Amino acid sequence: MSARAGIVYLVGAGPGDPGLMTVRSLELIATADAIFYDRLIPPGALAGAGAEAELVYVGKQPGVPSVPQEEIGERLIEAAQSGKSVVRLKGGDPFVFGRGGEEGEALREAGIEFEVVPGITAGVAATAYAGIPVTHRDDASAVAFVTGHEDPAKDESALDWKALAAFPGTLVFYMGVKRLAQNAAALIAAGRADDEPAAAIERGTWPGQRTVSATLGTIAEAVEREEIGAPALIVVGPVARRREQLAWLERRPLHERRVVVTRAGAQASGLSKTLRNLGAEVIELPAIRIEPLIETEEVHKAISSLNDYAFVCLTSPNGVRLLFEAMQANGCDARALADTTVAAIGPGTARALAERGIVADIVPERFVAEALVEALAGVEVEGRRVLVARAAEGRDVLPDALRKRGAKVDVVALYETVREEPDPEQIEAAQSADYVTFTSSSTVTNLTEALGDRFPTNARVVSIGPVTSEAARASGLRVDVEAERHDIDGLLAALLADATNRAVP
Ligand code: SAH
Repeated sequence: MSARAGIVYLVGAGPGDPGLMTVRSLELIATADAIFYDRLIPPGALAGAGAEAELVYVGKQPGVPSVPQEEIGERLIEAAQSGKSVVRLKGGDPFVFGRGGEEGEALREAGIEFEVVPGITAGVAATAYAGIPVTHRDDASAVAFVTGHEDPAKDESALDWKALAAFPGTLVFYMGVKRLAQNAAALIAAGRADDEPAAAIERGTWPGQRTVSATLGTIAEAVEREEIGAPALIVVGPVARRREQLAWLERRPLHERRVVVTRAGAQASGLSKTLRNLGAEVIELPAIRIEPLIETEEVHKAISSLNDYAFVCLTSPNGVRLLFEAMQANGCDARALADTTVAAIGPGTARALAERGIVADIVPERFVAEALVEALAGVEVEGRRVLVARAAEGRDVLPDALRKRGAKVDVVALYETVREEPDPEQIEAAQSADYVTFTSSSTVTNLTEALGDRFPTNARVVSIGPVTSEAARASGLRVDVEAERHDIDGLLAALLADATNRAVP
């Protein structure tokens, strides 16, 4: 509950790209007691809401009667009166065609305090993503935001077409698709040149944003031909032509590529983010989940005698994270590794160690157990105690090789990877994927089993390395791309190279 009892925040969530939400909006979402939200808010916008927060959908849905504006107002008032910190979350900016004004008035009338948090409005954001500057020194010194869909209850002549036709700048029409033909004709009839550049932008800043360029005279026909649907904006003015030079979205290396990420939740986020930054549309289909096993007798024993090991080998960043969790649970910290030689299977594992204050003594170049065996070749292990801390279902290459050389090896399972049932909606979305990425053999086996004949067979399979590729082949898949470096950066590089060499289908 907020320090100030009973307040409503009218918050803009921006045009759709979650990265365009303001810091203030995220802060308020995280601390709200209740959030009333619309349909066009960014995916994941509510992910940061508190577990106790009440989330109430009040948006419109095609074919379903929507919550009347009055009722929304009443519910906001009611929630605030009960002392809650209430967020009213709207697409774009709350005061630009967002009925924020009306809601603010109703709140003031009821004596409820409110604040307004602006959001990036679609008229500025969708245009920017389309490479259309709404003003430009040579083309437009003014910009007008216009509704293309007047309230039917209002007088039909509410829009002054003569004034709009004469407006010395860019016209941006919101809600303008349905009446585009009439509106364009009205503008031309009122004196705007029919050969003036125009553009329609659909789903601006969302995955799959589309832009259609035409002239004022031809835009309605173009929009119909290309089946541009809501939400979309219409831009009229010479700036619309600047897109020829300034379009940037479509130039990103993975634009229009749909990529499936199969890593487990928390780990997926890094890979997904990088892919999105490169322009890809990411479909997360985690096939596995990490189940910690750090409360077992064997882990407890190993942790309490860490100093007795001459070597500790770690085979994944998850292993590192859970080793430290186990250490903490057993009352010790990084100093428990002070006298041991620490080996990491690859750079990701080494990084996870470094984040916890341990610089790995041995890190092989390649990210496979065989490489770690090679890296340890020059190290005397005979008669010495070695701890291999890893997943329950790990391969035995490393312990076997060390035992062969006379080491006394304890293999301790810190976690197991268990099958995660993929979300049916995500499975559906994955059907049109261009790429499916695999970062371990367990993701391959689990995903192919979970999907069965719903595996997107037209997608190209990208594997992180030979072991994963082998598992993919064993599961009946064709491996199209295999990373040369067997880590996430290597996988990304391989995918990028492949995408660059192949035109978008
Ligand atoms: N308050 C919102 C506008 C709500 S009105 C804002 O400030 O952006 C809804 C209209 O906004 C839609 O009909 C469409 O014209 C426009 N719109 C909203 N989001 C959009 C998007 N991502 N791409 C293109 N147009 C969008």
